[in-house]
Amino acid sequence: MYPGAERVGKTAVLMPKNLAAVLFDMDGTLVESEQHWGEALFGLARRLGGNLRAAARGSTVGTSMATSMQILQADLGLERSPEDTRADIAWVEDAVAGLLAGGLHWRPGARELLAGVRTAALPTALVTTTPRRLADLVIGQVERAFPDVPPFDLTVCGDEVPARKPDPAPYLQATAALGVDPADCVVVEDSAAGVAAGLAAGCAVLGVPSLQPLAPAPGLVLRDTLAGIGVADLERLLLDRETAAPRA
Ligand SMILES: [Mg+2]
Repeated sequence: MYPGAERVGKTAVLMPKNLAAVLFDMDGTLVESEQHWGEALFGLARRLGGNLRAAARGSTVGTSMATSMQILQADLGLERSPEDTRADIAWVEDAVAGLLAGGLHWRPGARELLAGVRTAALPTALVTTTPRRLADLVIGQVERAFPDVPPFDLTVCGDEVPARKPDPAPYLQATAALGVDPADCVVVEDSAAGVAAGLAAGCAVLGVPSLQPLAPAPGLVLRDTLAGIGVADLERLLLDRETAAPRA
């Protein structure tokens, strides 16, 4: 019998613990910033005298810059030295910073879901692969959109974790800092790497694909958009996961 179950007579009744926290990815999940990364990567490819194919761009979504550079260089048939690659990364990040400073574009339903989670007094974390200096450009704008209550209890950026998504480390770092059991949390993600990270951390995952198709997986619930999704839906998602695969 897993923790939280109560035996009534001879019947085990499922009594899952409450939803403990909601962990949000940033780019492509809360905000429409993925196209900025795309624009910058296509721009870098042109700078290097090539054309990044759309499929290659698609496979960079949700990955670290190091991985994105490997994909871009392979697609362009280029070999870049570590120094040149570092300069390329800085060029892309500077380009994205300029685009992010231009304003915030919420993904459909994201602002409303975040507001609902906060109204329900649920702990929240933003868990992004984007480095702090760029993420803060978005976080600052999200905070200004929530003047009454800080939108996140915790923000974890790609340069603050021992390993990046799809490794579970970023989500495990967030749940540990919040003092919650990952099994009681819902992760909201748009990319395959992010979904894999959330599932590997032991969280239930709500997948809302943006630029990349997401394959079905146990523990993953897919929706086209966050529009109309509220806290009750996240609680249901956790409950359904428990029912499908009770904890040992
Ligand atoms: Mg994302």
